[in-house]
Amino acid sequence: MRRSYRFLLRPTSKQAAALVACLEDHRALYNAALEHRRTAYAKAGVSVRYGDQSAELKHIRADDPGGQGRWSFSSQQATLRRLDRAFRAFFDRVKAGRTPGFPRFKGPGRFDSVEWPKDGDGCRWDSQPEHPTATYVRLQGVGHVRVHQHRPIRGRVKTISAKREGSCWYVVLSCDDVPAEPLPATGATAGIDMGVASLVTTSDGAHLANPRHLATTSGRLAEAQRVLDRKKRGSKRRRKAVARVAALHGKVRRQRLDHAHKAALVLVRGYDVIVHEDLRIRNMTRSASGTIDQPGRNVAAKSGLNRSILDAGWGVFLTVLAYKAESAGRELIAVNPAGTSRTCSRCGHGAKENRVSQAVFRCQGCGHAAHADVNAATNVLRAGLALRQAAEAA
Ligand SMILES: [Zn+2]
Repeated sequence: MRRSYRFLLRPTSKQAAALVACLEDHRALYNAALEHRRTAYAKAGVSVRYGDQSAELKHIRADDPGGQGRWSFSSQQATLRRLDRAFRAFFDRVKAGRTPGFPRFKGPGRFDSVEWPKDGDGCRWDSQPEHPTATYVRLQGVGHVRVHQHRPIRGRVKTISAKREGSCWYVVLSCDDVPAEPLPATGATAGIDMGVASLVTTSDGAHLANPRHLATTSGRLAEAQRVLDRKKRGSKRRRKAVARVAALHGKVRRQRLDHAHKAALVLVRGYDVIVHEDLRIRNMTRSASGTIDQPGRNVAAKSGLNRSILDAGWGVFLTVLAYKAESAGRELIAVNPAGTSRTCSRCGHGAKENRVSQAVFRCQGCGHAAHADVNAATNVLRAGLALRQAAEAA
């Protein structure tokens, strides 16, 4: 298996300055390589390839030993490859008959990571300069940077990236050969319903609620965004407001990821088979302001933006759940969510009147009453088990 880890870096002020210089030089390289391709294409209709640009790196580095020459050859190649991918995507869209925008120059703040494609080549994870109890990563031209390693890593480190987020720096490791850690069978199966108040409700009736602090932060983010929208372009106050929105976005992302990990862990520990709604289908059928079953009702108390911030946690959660399920040897099934929220899980009667309110389900056919999310989760479970049975019979 493959997975990535992300840790906060604690650079000294000198190292922080070097990280900024490293990022800026890689950005300059990206933009210069883009300029080269644009000019060649516009003037002569020639496509410059990655190989051509990579071959020029040697000269660029030799001509600028105190600048571009300071950094790792491999991280510079990775930056050129990143541009190459942008061009491939551009030409793929052209081929598909669309009219995409040409790859763009990266302004300051639009280029925030540098990748070293191989541990040991211009970078070294766990470089141990002198301090046996602390973790360091060595980055060429920057030095041994201290890492706040808050959890152990498994597998073999493949790529190392440094990433800037607001005023913080992170190191992202991508690891190969991460061993699976199977969990003992429980004999239990569950369907799950994903919502706003509770991130997840299980068919057993457990609610894994979105934590209050996440709702608080997303409320503050929505407010900060409204403040930003009122600021004049190019003003100093606007810059400040942008920084605040970015900082709150980072905070929401960390809180959401943390909660996704906790909720997914509860599920994989408790169940052998977990059935969830297929989010791709669901996103097509539900509008931002509600659901087809329940148009706009569940937005009542929340602003659209605040709600959408909470909603966005579903994708993150399913990604984390998929990884944990694979590692633990659990089965994950995705089902079409159509009708799950208005169909009675006892008798199968489907009607939108069954959904009395956001939380209450009462069947107009048989009188079955349940929490609406538990009823939906039960339908999801049934659909998943039917799908599984059909697959086994085929
Ligand atoms: Zn019923």
